[in-house]
Amino acid sequence: MAKVKRSYTKTPMKEQAPEVRCHNFEEVALGYSLEEGQLEASRCLQCKNAPCIENCPVMIDIPGFIKAIEEGDMPRAYEVLGRYTNLPAICGRVCPQEKQCEMVCRLGRSKKFEPVAIGKLERLVADWALDQPIEYKEVVGDKGKVAIIGSGPSGLTAAGDLAKLGYEVIVYEALHAPGGVLTYGIPEFRLPKKVVNNEIERIKAQGVTIETNVVVGKTITMDEILEEFDACYLSVGAGAPNFQGIKGTSLKGVYSSSEYLTRINLMHGYQFPKYDTPVQESKNVVVIGGGNVAMDAARSAKRLGAENVSIVYRRSLAELPAREEEYHHSVEEGINYHWLTNPIEYVGDEEGRLVAVKCIQMELGEPDDSGRRRPVAIPGSEFIIEADTAIEAIGQGANKVLLDTFPELALNKWGYIDASEETCATSIPGVYAGGDIVTGAATVILAMGAGKIAANEIDNYVQNKKLQEQPV
Ligand code: FAD
Ligand code: SF4
Repeated sequence: MAKVKRSYTKTPMKEQAPEVRCHNFEEVALGYSLEEGQLEASRCLQCKNAPCIENCPVMIDIPGFIKAIEEGDMPRAYEVLGRYTNLPAICGRVCPQEKQCEMVCRLGRSKKFEPVAIGKLERLVADWALDQPIEYKEVVGDKGKVAIIGSGPSGLTAAGDLAKLGYEVIVYEALHAPGGVLTYGIPEFRLPKKVVNNEIERIKAQGVTIETNVVVGKTITMDEILEEFDACYLSVGAGAPNFQGIKGTSLKGVYSSSEYLTRINLMHGYQFPKYDTPVQESKNVVVIGGGNVAMDAARSAKRLGAENVSIVYRRSLAELPAREEEYHHSVEEGINYHWLTNPIEYVGDEEGRLVAVKCIQMELGEPDDSGRRRPVAIPGSEFIIEADTAIEAIGQGANKVLLDTFPELALNKWGYIDASEETCATSIPGVYAGGDIVTGAATVILAMGAGKIAANEIDNYVQNKKLQEQPV
């Protein structure tokens, strides 16, 4: 048999040039053409016992959908993906593939070769599907009635799977638009809202109802939910912002990343005055943190016209938790980095406006509980960064609105819901929970993985309950 000559590197994906894209909110990566996708798909070794499947939290048949792309059969590729995920266009764009499927790809194990670009191929198939008509299911399932609280990736996944299993599903969402962080957190230039909306529409087409502007715990109570439904899934995320609590946090110009990004994404702040939710015009912006959220806030500030945008991170590049791709994009767009630096005070003027961030230099000490070396302040190394806007992106915690009205539910020591990793079961029968509200801030694909587990467990629970209730 003739030997196939594989390219050592991934087929590159076209992108908007940095000097152009840092002035607009259009998507940065432009996607593969079918020919580029087929070329990339031909690099896959079609491994038996493929490790990429094992390392995917929703266990997608990766060689299966890649083979279909190679053969130019997009309907089959989409059908294979659809067996495992309700949100392929989203995962193809924002999943940390470099730490999951692509990290263990057998092709990438050889020093000469980069792994197959699995995420980019997933996006190609999902984008092909965006242009296909949506088929709406006419009859709602009658196996039982399930409530999903929160419409982020975890809730949407559970909802889609339960509808496919034959349930009537109602999703309650506190905000005026569904999607959770996909809609209010991740900016348009990484995840266009039309992509999110299209995948949500396909989930609704399975017979799922989504009711927005319903805050469970306020608009309706958990008692009412438990009364009306056979089971429920709590996927309310971890959206409450954390602040460092340093002096000057209440100055005008100091934002949490949640507020800053929500104003831009959900409230279209970048389209002011068309939408009446402006964010302050800034010249010098300091973003505190090193995750994807910090990158998103910094790159959004740049696009809104800030001249100098700096990220202040208390560890070094080696420990940066953000996706590598996002870091590289941010550097290309002119974001500056202050490594091993921590802010210690926000400095204001007489009118209570932020004028500078006082920082201190750090060094790495002994490893902490997370195994990473703990940053330690170097005495006498304080310095000032001029800033009219500071955005704290140092993590989020559990939103208490629902939890405070449902004291029967057991929480763990961090204030998240205490639920089993294997079954998503909580301390209350029929109440399941998963995603960020159980794990703390994590990733889209882990939240989806929990949603899939929950859907199967809820199915078992409801069917067993119905069997037990049958007269003997
Ligand atoms: P969420 O997405 O937070 O959704 C929870 C939903 O529940 C929200 O819509 C909320 O309004 C609703 N809700 C809350 N309380 C109630 C209530 N009482 N009643 C009704 N509804 C309620 N992950 C990645 O994998 N890749 C990335 O690139 C990435 N980038 C990110 C960028 C940003 C800015 C942020 C903030 C996060 C990012 N993440 C990323 C993390 C990822 O988005 C989350 O891990 C994921 O969205 C968690 O999903 P979830 O469904 O558990 O919760
Ligand atoms: Fe293809 Fe890599 Fe998966 Fe093997 S491990 S099937 S080469 S994507």
